[in-house]
Amino acid sequence: MKVNILELINVYKDYEGHRALSNINLYVRKNEFITLLGPSGCGKTTTLRLIAGFEHPTSGEILFEGKNIADLPPYKRKVNTVFQKYALFPHLNIYENIAFGLKIKKMDKKVIDKKVKEILSLVNLQGFEKRSVDSLSGGQQQRIAIARALVNEPEVLLLDEPLGALDLKLRKEMQIELKKMQQKLGITFVFVTHDQEEALTMSDTIVVMKDGEIQQIGTPEDIYNEPKNAFVAEFIGESTIIDGIMHEDYLVEFAGKKFKCLDSGFAKNEAVDVVIRPEDIKVVDVKEGMLIGLVKSVIFKGVHYEIIVATNTNTFKIHSTKMAPIGERVGLIIEPNDIHIMKKERGRVEG
Ligand code: ATP
Repeated sequence: MKVNILELINVYKDYEGHRALSNINLYVRKNEFITLLGPSGCGKTTTLRLIAGFEHPTSGEILFEGKNIADLPPYKRKVNTVFQKYALFPHLNIYENIAFGLKIKKMDKKVIDKKVKEILSLVNLQGFEKRSVDSLSGGQQQRIAIARALVNEPEVLLLDEPLGALDLKLRKEMQIELKKMQQKLGITFVFVTHDQEEALTMSDTIVVMKDGEIQQIGTPEDIYNEPKNAFVAEFIGESTIIDGIMHEDYLVEFAGKKFKCLDSGFAKNEAVDVVIRPEDIKVVDVKEGMLIGLVKSVIFKGVHYEIIVATNTNTFKIHSTKMAPIGERVGLIIEPNDIHIMKKERGRVEG
């Protein structure tokens, strides 16, 4: 049986009349790498702060191993937090920074020495004990911040954009290192990022949030291949989103043509959003009856060409390994399983 180490049940958080979180229901399994993903202000940090105990929910419950932890202060929760800003003590050396929490717990000096050594080797900074914080690069400082949190052996590690301050190359390296560390230690990670690629690379489960509400929870594959609504589709990867009409089960009309699809359960002639990924559109020679358009622009992107094709009614972005000359009339093929039909969202601007 899979154990939920952490559960958020019907959690709301209001700040002076402003709703930061609305009806959050979230189950985190032991040893899971779960990522809260969403644009700035969607409530990711607030969710972490509730779990850590820095804030209290306005209503709802937070359970740790099945027990309500509402009244536990942060230091009594078996969680540690790593922030984007490393928050190391600048006047202490690396050893003292890592040993800080253990000394407070009055642990034996020899045990502390052993633990600090082990954790430094885990983050690949053996021999750094005597170094000052200032003498370390950003990436090294962040690894020390992670080591300092891990040395306390938390059951859950909360990470709030921990790689946000690093340059792209270091960030990618650290993504892989962090994931390896998490697997090796078997600690549950609740990770916050607004970077969809980072979330897809690292997570077992992704929680997509917008305006304080959860939009979708799933594996990276689920979220990418089966986005639940137009927001998720737009936020994760690229997509063209256009208006469509569901004629009947498995038959949708968009861009002036009817297409077979795999979706059903919509009302007859219901207006829908049709979501198509750029890599799922094939550019071919024109044949009778096809969706036809003109190539408006072609940009070489390294692994593929990004081609913009305008039909009579819509514009499609396409990723293709074959180039197509600007001004050429081309046919577009989209397979039924690559046409994603979404219910129209409240408040989305039509277009
Ligand atoms: P970012 O990626 O920018 O850190 P986020 O997704 O982590 O954003 P939160 O920091 O959780 O978002 O904020 C959610 C909402 O709650 C925002 O509208 C924010 O302005 C508001 N908020 C957060 N903390 C407070 C506070 N202490 N007082 C009032 N409003 C707050």
